[in-house]
Amino acid sequence: MALRIVVCIKQVPDTTEVRMDPVKGTLIREGVVSIVNPFDSYAVEEGVRLKEKHGGTCTVVTMGPPQAEQALRDCISVGADEAYLVSDRAFAGSDTWATSLTLAAAIRKIGFDLIICGKQAIDGDTAQVGPGIAVHLDLPQATYARKIREVGEKSMIIERLLEEGVETMEMPLPGLITVVKEINEPRLPSLKGKMRAKKYELKKLTAADLDLQPGKLGLDGSPTRVMKIFAPPPRAGGEVFKGEADQCADKLVAVLAKNGVV
Ligand SMILES: Cc1cc2nc3c(=O)[nH]c(=O)nc-3n(C[C@H](O)[C@H](O)[C@H](O)COP(=O)(O)OP(=O)(O)OC[C@H]3O[C@@H](n4cnc5c(N)ncnc54)[C@H](O)[C@@H]3O)c2cc1C
Repeated sequence: MALRIVVCIKQVPDTTEVRMDPVKGTLIREGVVSIVNPFDSYAVEEGVRLKEKHGGTCTVVTMGPPQAEQALRDCISVGADEAYLVSDRAFAGSDTWATSLTLAAAIRKIGFDLIICGKQAIDGDTAQVGPGIAVHLDLPQATYARKIREVGEKSMIIERLLEEGVETMEMPLPGLITVVKEINEPRLPSLKGKMRAKKYELKKLTAADLDLQPGKLGLDGSPTRVMKIFAPPPRAGGEVFKGEADQCADKLVAVLAKNGVV
């Protein structure tokens, strides 16, 4: 069955690059390399594979500032057909509720049979946006999908990765899944893909294009309030014993005894 697949992707700072301003307690974003959220790369790959196998289209969408355009082009280079940037100053300060509401409105406009998200974003890490979109669109959802076994006219058979095993379930379509990295191995961009990504004309949606009341967007539409943000204090370094093994063992036993462990 040909599917209209929409994949939600988020541009995130490369975690190895993240630094905090110790005085302000905020992220230092200047000069930080941005990447497609790694879990979303698996979501894009699955969308492209489903399209290649069953026909249809794979469209990527992100809500973010203008520079998120690069993340969308990266997805085009690995096989996505279309890309939407949902961007407007009115979206600034959105929490996960407002983000998922805005994305849901954009996806409703784009049209879909299946929505795929990553299991979580590596910066916000809440894993709330995928399920939030499903709720706003009143869709069935399957989180932590590790395999799509079958795709039928009206439903899919999905394996979900649980803490202590795997659950196999049938999900009616249209629906939403979030994926884990076990689902596939994302491909590298081809030369043809890179050329298409460079020339591709992105589609853009602003607040005016979405059927949402102004009070539901951005900070005004966000019920979450951040009370404080801080980096955890660095751990004190441990004690290193140097010398012969039996001397080190004696020192270790003495420390353990002093602390009441032995
Ligand atoms: C009060 C408050 C104010 C905030 N203000 C800002 C702000 O001004 N600017 C800012 O950048 N962030 C802001 N944030 C953070 C923002 O809410 C989250 O980054 C965003 O909602 C995504 O949540 P997450 O990172 O936990 O994603 P998760 O829920 O962990 O992501 C799960 C999946 O959802 C999809 N997804 C998540 N976010 C997006 C997206 N934007 N576009 C497309 N798909 C997506 C991806 O598939 C992803 O794998 C704010 C948060 C709070 C609480």
